[in-house]
Amino acid sequence: METPVDTHRTATRALATEAVHAGRDDLARQGLHAPPIDLSTTYPSYDSRAEAARIDAFAATGAELEGPPVYARLGNPTVARFETALARLEGTEAAVAFASGMAALSAVLLARASMGLRHVVAVRPLYGCSDHLLTAGVLGSEVTWTDPAGIADALRADTGLVMVESPANPTLAEVDLRAVAHACGSVPLLADNTFATPVLQRPAEQGARLVLHSATKYLGGHGDVMAGVVACDEEFAGRLRQVRFATGGVLHPLAGYLLLRGLSTLPVRVRAASATAAELARRLAADPRVARVHYPRIGGAMVAFETHGDPHAVISGVRLITPAVSLGSVDTLIQHPASISHRIVDADDRRGAGVSDRLLRMSVGLEDVEDLWADLDQALAGAQVPAEAASAAR
Ligand SMILES: *Cc1c(COP(=O)(O)O)cnc(C)c1O
Repeated sequence: METPVDTHRTATRALATEAVHAGRDDLARQGLHAPPIDLSTTYPSYDSRAEAARIDAFAATGAELEGPPVYARLGNPTVARFETALARLEGTEAAVAFASGMAALSAVLLARASMGLRHVVAVRPLYGCSDHLLTAGVLGSEVTWTDPAGIADALRADTGLVMVESPANPTLAEVDLRAVAHACGSVPLLADNTFATPVLQRPAEQGARLVLHSATKYLGGHGDVMAGVVACDEEFAGRLRQVRFATGGVLHPLAGYLLLRGLSTLPVRVRAASATAAELARRLAADPRVARVHYPRIGGAMVAFETHGDPHAVISGVRLITPAVSLGSVDTLIQHPASISHRIVDADDRRGAGVSDRLLRMSVGLEDVEDLWADLDQALAGAQVPAEAASAAR
């Protein structure tokens, strides 16, 4: 059966093909199959005049170095393969990888602040630490929180960035990226695409100038690599490489290798987990023990739900599902955002953003749907308010 994903083409190749081949196109002619991992921190050169010219060129534009690498903080060939592949999947000119999602967001903020554009307009909810980074002004930025309809009015002369997540962490609220991009005018829109992945949504096609990923999640896909990446145009990528060079939040080459490998199965993983998630969302919505289910229109492998009973008892009651923060791995994870992922956000701000104290966020993996449902069912049963306790309370 043809799914939209199969017909979702980049310039010439479908997304599923790019996932397997992008960033690897040179390998066969070199007699290689798996991409090499280059662990060098430095590279010899007998021509220091040529090095001076290359370093000047990097300082001017941040363009990737021509020729062999110089020093690992300027760029690494294994990481570059992942960057090339992710840019192909997101349909952007370039991508710049960092040590974590937060390092990637920090680089964007620093790139704008260095141009005197310290003001950020953002829509809640965002991932808890992104919210914290902006609210606490950790990097000297100032934030105005608004809803999508308020973006145009919130823009100032020193606004350097508009930031949204869609679907948002943890409520899975969606924003109309095309409408938001229009409201931004000439101010760059950053869309955090961690939850949707380019398999379900390509924000650059809808007008986002910057597409952010916590690559720790679906791109890596196996819960064993921490990384971040920004997909964007070459001009912005140059500034991000300069910030990365100056501040040092580089991605390790082993992580780059694992991410490239992760990308090759991304479409298969996201489609399979999304089908299971949609079925679990349907069963949860029909369950009287569940007050509310959040599942995005575009689908995906994340489900959020609010229980009538004690959400903490669901967390302590799961047996197959892993009670852990993070998401996007092959196994199913569940966590209580008000306690963990969004704990650092002020309680009133958190609730105001729709993150109820009863909300649970589940990242659906690749297990069988019946096994997952059996586990959820018994965990929900354990979270029921016992009948005697309920009547005693009356
Ligand atoms: C996890 C996450 C981040 C932060 O990424 P790290 O890799 O943990 O630094 C940013 N945005 C979203 C939506 C996330 O889920």
